Amino acid sequence: MSKEYDVVIIGGGTGGYVAAIRASQLGFSTAIVEKNKLGGTCLHAGCIPSKALLKSAEVFQTAKHSEDYGILSSQVELDFSKVQQRKEQIVEKLYSGVQYLMKKGKIDVYEGTGRMLGPSIFSPMAGSISVEFTNGDENEVLIPKNVILATGSRPNTLPNLEVDGETVITSDEALKMEKLPTSIIIVGGGVIGVEWASMLCDFGVSVTIVEYSERILPTEDEDVSKEMHRALVSRGVEIVTGAQVLPETLQKEAEVVIEAQTSNGKQTFKGERLLLSVGRKANTEGIGIENTSIELDRGFIMTNEYYQTKESHIYAIGDVIGGLQLAHVASHEGIKAVEHIAGRTPIPMRSTDIPRCVYSSPQAASVGLTEEEAIKNGFHVKVGKFPFQAVGKALISGEESGFAKIIADKETDDLLGVHLIGPNVTELISEAGLAKVLDATPWEMAHAVHPHPSLSEVLGEAALSVDGKAIHF
Ligand code: FAD
Repeated sequence: MSKEYDVVIIGGGTGGYVAAIRASQLGFSTAIVEKNKLGGTCLHAGCIPSKALLKSAEVFQTAKHSEDYGILSSQVELDFSKVQQRKEQIVEKLYSGVQYLMKKGKIDVYEGTGRMLGPSIFSPMAGSISVEFTNGDENEVLIPKNVILATGSRPNTLPNLEVDGETVITSDEALKMEKLPTSIIIVGGGVIGVEWASMLCDFGVSVTIVEYSERILPTEDEDVSKEMHRALVSRGVEIVTGAQVLPETLQKEAEVVIEAQTSNGKQTFKGERLLLSVGRKANTEGIGIENTSIELDRGFIMTNEYYQTKESHIYAIGDVIGGLQLAHVASHEGIKAVEHIAGRTPIPMRSTDIPRCVYSSPQAASVGLTEEEAIKNGFHVKVGKFPFQAVGKALISGEESGFAKIIADKETDDLLGVHLIGPNVTELISEAGLAKVLDATPWEMAHAVHPHPSLSEVLGEAALSVDGKAIHF
């Protein structure tokens, strides 16, 4: 049996299902092939469940320190099974939402594994797609005019450091933990490692981060990394940077023991569990790349600025093409790919316009170049910085550490980068994102009136401070 479509999407994660909705809005007959659950990593093993757990961890801490707000509560206890239940309910609700959206858009959903078969007389351009159904039904062949590959990514591992799902785990297993460990070693201090460190520390777990680079959050502005390091250490997280884990030293007996090579020689780390958060690799296996002329670069599918692969009717979006592996990037790429299929010329996305968020406590968020990158790119920079401790609303919120840092071009006044660490900055960053997309200057950001008292004042003030004109500091 075979069926024809304008667009067939392999992978129903944030990239794939959003692309499907846009395709249906543009009047395309659309199918999506998903081997697990619509919503993908973000909904089932990433953004949503991890942020639900982080929220519970934050509430637990706030409740424990409620006296700071004048609220006396006798005993605060953690019921981790309820925390997990709440997370599951949120995921389920959103999952139903995605399923409803597929029905609303009249998008055919095939529950199975999709694989490209290469060009045929039926589908000379995009090639046909075989679907191996999850429930064992007989395979089906889809005949698309265009294909979008959105197969996502999975956790990276280290050679010889086998993930057993019990004591050595990735974020996939960590999200499903029924019981909290008393201690954990987190290998990798990037975004996922820092979020887990913050959450587990708030839940009362003893946390050690072992990071290969010289600083945690190594791709963020150095000032933000330093402030995050300081904040986590002040809450009891042990952080060792410049440490290369030696997988062959792994022991798993009463506890997990591992050694790392550091500038002070070999150091031993012990914990009840070890969480590996060392990046993610593209899901390109088993999708029939070999039946096409699609090219890979370090494991990721190569595309042009409109997300076309070497085969002009086969597009690829999201984590599988690398770059910034973020849900909002995947969905925007999906929309742009579909618009290109529709014959439009979408404005290419600039990586320097994409907000990046860390949902730890404190939160961090940024858009654009770090100070170091700006200088490396030949800009003569001017920098404005403003602390949350001079923002009334931050004091009211009970979170006054952190700052906003704005980097601009001394010659043109162009905004180059905005970096935030502190309360609710993952919400505040959208204003900076809009300013970047509109090519605004710090003066224009400051000229926008920020309500008082609000945390957003930190941005207005940091923008003024680029030219030394901050009011409250
Ligand atoms: P995915 O969401 O991975 O979806 C790919 C889908 O394709 C999967 O459902 C998979 O089952 C399916 N698939 C694969 N192969 C086939 C096949 N052959 N046939 C059929 N189906 C197939 N990003 C953020 O922006 N914000 C966050 O806060 C955030 N937090 C995160 C926290 C964690 C712990 C993790 C792991 C990731 C987080 N991310 C976050 C990243 C985000 O989840 C990804 O960037 C996003 O999910 C990428 O979307 P995608 O559609 O490219 O791939």
